[in-house]
Amino acid sequence: MTRALLRTIRDWRLPLGATVMVYLFVGLLLPLLLVSDLVVALRRAEKRGRVLAMPAIACPQGHPVELVGAFRCPSCHLVAPWVHGFDRCGFCGEIAAAISCACGASVVNPLFEREESS
Ligand SMILES: [Zn+2]
Ligand SMILES: [Zn+2]
Repeated sequence: MTRALLRTIRDWRLPLGATVMVYLFVGLLLPLLLVSDLVVALRRAEKRGRVLAMPAIACPQGHPVELVGAFRCPSCHLVAPWVHGFDRCGFCGEIAAAISCACGASVVNPLFEREESS
């Protein structure tokens, strides 16, 4: 994000004085951006902690689905015993998009994000 911003400013090809002004402005803005990044990271960590503390979740049909146990990683197919179904795979780092209930319905992983944004 920050690097992209600096690159954009360079691509504007402003006169030196104006470039210095823009850099000063960005210099003032940067701490704010870092703080907002930090807040996002903290919120994500807080949400992760909350989700991983759940021992079970209800499927769309209302059945309780155990979240702690043996889960097969969707990417490397490693079956890890005694893990949280919504946590990252300890081997390849893949995160399951959803886990399925015995009734066939799937429970979406609230921690799953299609694109890694940071
Ligand atoms: Zn894996
Ligand atoms: Zn179910």
